[in-house]
Amino acid sequence: MNKIKNIKTELAKTTTTLVAVTKTRSIPTIMKLYDAGHRIFGENRVQELVTKFEEMPKDIEWHLIGHLQKNKVKYIASFVKLIHSVDSIELAEMINKQAAKHERVIDTLLQLKVAAEDSKFGLKNEELNEMVVQVKSLDHIRVRGIMGMATFTTDQDQVKQEFQQLKSHFDSIKENHFKDKDDFSELSMGMSGDYKLAVKEGSTMVRIGSLLFS
Ligand SMILES: *Cc1c(COP(=O)(O)O)cnc(C)c1O
Repeated sequence: MNKIKNIKTELAKTTTTLVAVTKTRSIPTIMKLYDAGHRIFGENRVQELVTKFEEMPKDIEWHLIGHLQKNKVKYIASFVKLIHSVDSIELAEMINKQAAKHERVIDTLLQLKVAAEDSKFGLKNEELNEMVVQVKSLDHIRVRGIMGMATFTTDQDQVKQEFQQLKSHFDSIKENHFKDKDDFSELSMGMSGDYKLAVKEGSTMVRIGSLLFS
């Protein structure tokens, strides 16, 4: 458990939150992080998220960080704390509908595609503004910020540029749509391999998995 303690000590000098990514890890393994005092966990699959939510202590904040299919929103709408991966208006509308059923307002991030790889999900730059306008009209969703993933590459300049792009989109959305809203405050970027760079470039939330368990 020294890994998580070291990372948390490092992040404590900043205002960045650690989301411990626990996908594919067993409950006893995750409980070690819990017993070390950690409470914010992220999963990328709905079924795994639901199982872990049901079997683990109820003071955990569960984040959904991976691609979310509309027909699965209903399984997590009662408890999910933050959905990092909203990438279409149809998905946002479904989250809104399911949140309303549970009389909740669900916190979300809009996922933006900046990586060069085709495989990464997310909104394109030119879709972002319209998306924000549409989502702002939904009463049971609160947009808390932006999420993105850099290209998986050893080219640090490229990764840095992509983080800078995310930060500049965050700033312009904040300026144009949420100027007086303190709620719009999160920039989720950075994983095991690139979180230090992400923090330097303005990340408020890093999603770290493999490094915690190595
Ligand atoms: C798995 C995953 C992470 C964590 O990746 P690591 O390299 O294990 O730190 C972060 N974000 C998303 C969306 C993921 O699926």
